[in-house]
Amino acid sequence: MAFTLSGDDVCHTISPTPITAPYWVAFSSSAAELIGLPLSADGFPKDKGWLDILAGNQTSSENHQFLEPKATAYSGHQFGMWAGQLGDGRAILLGEISGQELQLKGSGKTRYSRMGDGRAVLRSSIREFLCSEAMHALGMPTSRALAIVGSKQTVVRETLETLAVCARLAPSFIRIGHFEHFASLGSIDRLKELADLLIQDHYPECSNTNEPYLELFSAICKRNALLVAQWQAVGFCHGVLNTDNISALGLTIDYGPFGFLDYFQIDHICNHSDQGGRYAYHRQPQIMHWNMACLASAILPLIQLNHADEQAQTLLKSALDNFSVIYAQSWQSHFRQKLGLQINLDDDVQLIERLLQAMHDSRVDYTGFFRQLSQIKRTSAIKDISLRNQFIDRVNIDQWFTDYLTRLQSESCEDLERAQLMNKVNPKYILRNHLAQIAIEKAQKDDFSEINKLLEILSHPFDEQSENELYSMPPSSDVDYVSVSCSS
Ligand code: AMP
Ligand code: MG
Repeated sequence: MAFTLSGDDVCHTISPTPITAPYWVAFSSSAAELIGLPLSADGFPKDKGWLDILAGNQTSSENHQFLEPKATAYSGHQFGMWAGQLGDGRAILLGEISGQELQLKGSGKTRYSRMGDGRAVLRSSIREFLCSEAMHALGMPTSRALAIVGSKQTVVRETLETLAVCARLAPSFIRIGHFEHFASLGSIDRLKELADLLIQDHYPECSNTNEPYLELFSAICKRNALLVAQWQAVGFCHGVLNTDNISALGLTIDYGPFGFLDYFQIDHICNHSDQGGRYAYHRQPQIMHWNMACLASAILPLIQLNHADEQAQTLLKSALDNFSVIYAQSWQSHFRQKLGLQINLDDDVQLIERLLQAMHDSRVDYTGFFRQLSQIKRTSAIKDISLRNQFIDRVNIDQWFTDYLTRLQSESCEDLERAQLMNKVNPKYILRNHLAQIAIEKAQKDDFSEINKLLEILSHPFDEQSENELYSMPPSSDVDYVSVSCSS
């Protein structure tokens, strides 16, 4: 719900900077439904004024008026270092509609743009648009993408590129960085206002307790622990887990150099700029925990309102320790489901870890493997399991399959039912980088059909869609590696 804080220290009113001759590049009817926006048969809003609204050229149309667009200030830690004040440097919050904040990303400079031009290129807007909608369909808490509006206007990146504006939605775009912002300014009253706003609008369960702020901290930790466990299970790497990119609602936000795992590599780094691998796949849980520790430091003054310093720190520390417990439980639960295991046995974790190690050693396609695993019968002969051919060390994987089939004997579920359950958690279709790249290259030549095709396929990631089989495949070896880096 609307960002109701006001004041120079946290936001300023600013209208988007218009773009020349805007046109639709993509539109999500499913996101439009979320805000009750009526569409015509062509799949675009009935109210033609929406093109200009989402381009940032108008703040009102026939039926809608956004009275006070604004950009907000936040601060944060980037790549482990305190970065000081940041803020919406290229995103402008138009206002609220049906409980969703509507933000235009790439809509021009704000007070927080620093050296940036306030713009986003078509390429990164397509990636954010498709991934937001794909993640939603995967059941992942995420900001949504309503539309991409394009223009022939260019901006300078490594080369000259056309810009675009991506309209995105979330119940709130408040980040851990907003807490760090007020904490760094020493504004305890403002910190309290921010926490109260979140509790009132998004965490009402924390309000009638003796320790609302401690409860709020625990709840934010919990949502982010559950989120990162979901990322690990589906093989999603965010790419830039700086505290300013971490949602206070536990949503996936700020899609940039993200990447889904293709061939499994436990320490895969999806962001070209992340040379040290701080945000590698296997480090995401630990980094999210670190980000929650930053939130704990920021929120400490609110806990100190009721407690002496040492006790306040102890309380926060023990709430923070819960992150690891919640994460581990959720991770295990996801991977049990991925393997089709319903009961919990002590050796399951070892079984999961042995599999991941073997997949890493042979660089097996992550999504494809789990999807095909559901085809195995309890009575399958090991030599007939075609998946074994993807592994270099056959002795090792044969032992694993033997142990897996033995483990399945402890389950009461029949093969068919198990396969159905597994196919509800192991997607067939994910937004692989090479697929996004094809859509981008076509769009750069004004052909937007592939964006729509991907949007459609990725809206049903758990369905077989046999006619789209090719879209489920990992990149073949002759496909160029797509390198993605920060802020484009
Ligand atoms: P990101 O890595 O995309 O999350 O961006 C980090 C910070 O830089 C955020 O505060 C952004 O608003 C800001 N930023 C990124 N790109 C631009 C740009 N082109 N113009 C202005 N600010 C930007
Ligand atoms: Mg960001």
